[in-house]
Amino acid sequence: MSVMPIRTFGHPVLRERARPVESFDDNLRRLAEDMLETMYAAPGVGLAANQIGMAIRLIVWDDGNGPGAMANQVVSGLEGEQLDDEGCLSVPGLYYPTARAFHVRAEGLDLFGTPVAHDAEGLLARIFQHEVDHIEGKLFLSRLSRENRADALAAMRDRELGIERNGRGLRPRPSRAT
Ligand code: ZN
Repeated sequence: MSVMPIRTFGHPVLRERARPVESFDDNLRRLAEDMLETMYAAPGVGLAANQIGMAIRLIVWDDGNGPGAMANQVVSGLEGEQLDDEGCLSVPGLYYPTARAFHVRAEGLDLFGTPVAHDAEGLLARIFQHEVDHIEGKLFLSRLSRENRADALAAMRDRELGIERNGRGLRPRPSRAT
């Protein structure tokens, strides 16, 4: 297993709508292992294949109940609301309150191509919504209030310029990024 470099904000692969997984072979399973290794090393609680530069619909996660992986995920049955800090390994170190449904049903295929479904709530539901955004080429920044989005973009611009800045979103919450 190996830790892969995570693509960060500004990389075009993060804006790409990922294509469906078609081959459920050893290569796919190795890729999922590498993604989990990368996610744990970050550390984070979820990762989409786009984030390591592969525009395919594959996600991995661990919300504290063990690792999971799913291909071609579709999210439905959005119910309730949660407003909690959310972060993204592709937008490192920035966390903002992000509105998500409290409950979702995630359906897709496991690493052998067998249909699977998870009814999730709370953090796992948040992870599924975050990752399905990734495979659609969207970042959580698009879900933020206008004010917080502006703060995030300013913080990233300053970081690019090498300026140390304490944006409102800069918080030491490394375990919640996906
Ligand atoms: Zn993310």
